[in-house]
Parts: sequence; structure tokens; C-alpha cells
Amino acid sequence: MAQIIDGKAISARIKDELKEEVARKKTEGKQITLAVIQVGNDPASTVYVGNKKKACAYIGIDSVSYELPEETSQDELLALIDKLNEDPKITGILVQLPVPDHIDEDIIIRKISPKKDVDGFHPMSVGALCIGEKGFVSCTPAGVIKLLEYSGIEIAGKECVVIGRSNIVGKPMALLLLRENGTVTVCHSKTKDLKEVCKRADILVVAIGRPKMINEEYIKDGAVVIDVGIHRMDNGRLCGDVDFDRVVDKCSAITPVPGGVGPMTIAMLMYNVVNAE
Ligand code: NAD
Repeated sequence: MAQIIDGKAISARIKDELKEEVARKKTEGKQITLAVIQVGNDPASTVYVGNKKKACAYIGIDSVSYELPEETSQDELLALIDKLNEDPKITGILVQLPVPDHIDEDIIIRKISPKKDVDGFHPMSVGALCIGEKGFVSCTPAGVIKLLEYSGIEIAGKECVVIGRSNIVGKPMALLLLRENGTVTVCHSKTKDLKEVCKRADILVVAIGRPKMINEEYIKDGAVVIDVGIHRMDNGRLCGDVDFDRVVDKCSAITPVPGGVGPMTIAMLMYNVVNAE
């Protein structure tokens, strides 16, 4: 019987630990404030921003939010980020993505001070991860590492296969597994013989964006399977990139969707906010 990795419970533990840390930091006179910027009113973004603000309130972090109209210009957004970069009371800055099409996401990401880059998307943060220096790490892959750690799953020496090479999930995931001394292979849409490569994995991390693509034919007996994907099916229920029902009996541990990787992303955002200088 596979261990079902409970991301909801683990993220709740992390948030409770952070709550204690924030209380301690407050007694030392340290102020932690997250600035959250949303441009436009995409309903999904509004839900994400709301959840982030709720998590801040639970942990005891102050948050200030900027809800800007859809027609906000890139220059106006850059000016606001500049102001927040300079404001010593603001310790973290988050711009909810995606931004409207007339704003260049890459320019916005580069404008946020690397010292306040709690999403870990700035090239300086990514570079620091690459060369093993301290810096903010992208929240979803950082959450995967915490899930493995809290579930007692050793990474060192393991064959780790990551499917997906996006800048926010696949690539930082591979770097983090390498940092934990895994032997890492990264697969993507041009990989030949994906099944054979995946079957080498002791730990398989799936971040493809294709509902239920990974079935038992990709899995080695006893593998640990981490499903980053999240999709809403026609019946309204959520599923991942892994076909959970077909895979669960073959692996030793697996994350469900929902309730696996998803809740960890906000917990790790909070971790980054609390640990900002
Ligand atoms: P993306 O579209 O940016 O990247 C997908 C990657 O998968 C690409 O590198 C591509 O090469 C690879 N890929 C696509 N088709 C493939 C195939 N047939 N075979 C092998 N590789 C293939 O996606 P992303 O932003 O990395 O997100 C991946 C998934 O994770 C999505 O379902 C997304 O919704 C989900 N996600 C979840 C969270 C969370 O908090 N749980 C956070 C971010 C992303």
C-alpha cells in the first residue's frame, strides 16, 4: 500500500512553525510585511491573491495589497515596484502572474529587488540556486523538497527524474534535487523514450501540464511519485498529470491531487516571506 503524502497536513505544520517564528521575530522588533500586487481582475488570480493574504494573516505577517486596474501601464507598475523596493517597511514583493498582455512579465520580474523577490523568479535568485548560494527558491519546487523531507524520503543517491523544464517548476526542481545529492535527469517534450527514462526513477516528479498522462507504464515498482500538475476536469473535479488510480498500487509513495503539492506552494511562499532579510 503506497504512502499517500498529505500536503495539506504538512503545509499546515509548516505554517504553524512559521507562525511561532514570526511571533519570536516580532518580540525582537523585526517587522515582516508582504506587498501583493494584482493587475486586472482575473478571477483565478483574485482567488490566489486572497489565499496568500489569508495565509499572511494566519501566520501574523502584515500584508498590503495593490489592486490595480487592467489598463495600468507597464511604467506605472514599474514605478510602484520601485517605490516598494525602496520602502524599508516592505520585506517582500509579489506580483501575481499572469499580468495583462501589454505588460512584459520578464521586465516586471527583473524589477523586483532580489532581496524582496519572495517568488524566487528573479534571474539573481535563479542564479544563486544554480551555484549553490543563498537566495529565494521558487515556491512549488521548494515545496516538493519539503514534502519529501517531512515524509522521511531520502533524496541523496537516488535516481530522480523530473518531467518538465519550465522556469518556475521543472528547472528549479532539478537544481534542488541535485543540491540534495540526487542523480537527476530532466525530461521534456523532445525526450525520446520517455517511459524508459521514467522507469529508472526512484523519485519521479511530474510537471508537464497534461491531465493524467503518466500511468503505470512509466513507473518503476516502489518509486516515489510527485504530481505537480493540476487540472479541472469536465465533471468539476481536480486531477493531476499522473493517473493516480493506475499508479498508486505500483509506487511506495505518491502525492494526491488535490491535497499534495498544491497546498505547499503557499506554505513555501510564507517561508520565503518570513525568511526575507
Ligand atoms: P509549462 O507548460 O510551463 O511546462 C511544461 C513542461 O512539460 C515543458 O517543459 C514541456 O517540455 C514539458 N512537456 C509538455 N508535454 C510533454 C510531453 N508530452 N512529454 C514530456 N514533456 C512534456 O508548465 P509548468 O508551469 O511547469 O506547470 C506544469 C504543471 O504544474 C501544470 O499542470 C500546472 O498547472 C502545474 N502547476 C502547479 C503548481 C502548484 O502549485 N501545484 C504550480 C505551478 C504549476
